[in-house]
Amino acid sequence: MKIKHWLLGAMLLPSLSFAANVITKYTPPQSEELKPYYELLKSRNALDQVKPTVKLLKWPGDFTLETMECGEVNAMYYPGQSRIVMCYEIFKDLHDKSEEQLTDYSAEYRRDVAVHAAIFLFRHELTHAIIDVFKVPIFTDEENAADAVALYYSLNNSEPEELKKLLKGAKFYFMRKNPKFGETNDYQFGTFSDVHPLHEQRYFNMLCYTYAKYPKEADFLVKDGYLPQSRADYCPRQWEQLDNAMKKLIWPHTYKKVGK
Ligand SMILES: [Zn+2]
Repeated sequence: MKIKHWLLGAMLLPSLSFAANVITKYTPPQSEELKPYYELLKSRNALDQVKPTVKLLKWPGDFTLETMECGEVNAMYYPGQSRIVMCYEIFKDLHDKSEEQLTDYSAEYRRDVAVHAAIFLFRHELTHAIIDVFKVPIFTDEENAADAVALYYSLNNSEPEELKKLLKGAKFYFMRKNPKFGETNDYQFGTFSDVHPLHEQRYFNMLCYTYAKYPKEADFLVKDGYLPQSRADYCPRQWEQLDNAMKKLIWPHTYKKVGK
């Protein structure tokens, strides 16, 4: 009876799953001008508010959400570390630019735009984590995929008012360096709104895949300056993603392997 009881327990065990820990961390900045952002985010438990979204995923291990001083206006996911960092600099930049540019709007509106720009950005970073941890096959470049998944989640899960704020926040995030974009015809909307990425970007994507596939033979691309080193650093990861997507999504439908 005892053995049977033990066996039953052992059989049940694999079906139990434990949600991974989501660790939050507010690292104090050195810079005086960033301290108010540290204080505010920490006192409001800002990271706790995005925890439920992180907890929707079946992470295989702990996941860390962190705010810190980065030395640049950015937010990032660290591949292999299950860790997202939101830099104090990005919160400052969103705050400063919304104060500068949205002077015709109320303080509440400006705050909403800045906060929702940060939420959109967080969901974008979370998608990088999902793609990395679960080895999600993607053909498109990871940045477009991260935007698409972030918006997909928001479109499906946000109340209409919340969704409007998120879209305004995302627009502000993308346009904050060109505040008049969207309100003037000076820009080439046709170029930017085309279903294709910019041709120049498509060209560099081709170089990037080639360089990653044949690093020795195509080394001259970087050495002779055809492909900037800053982009070349990402190429192996992009090739790996293309290869993974091909093997998982297309190879099963072919009569013979179409790669190696
Ligand atoms: Zn990104």
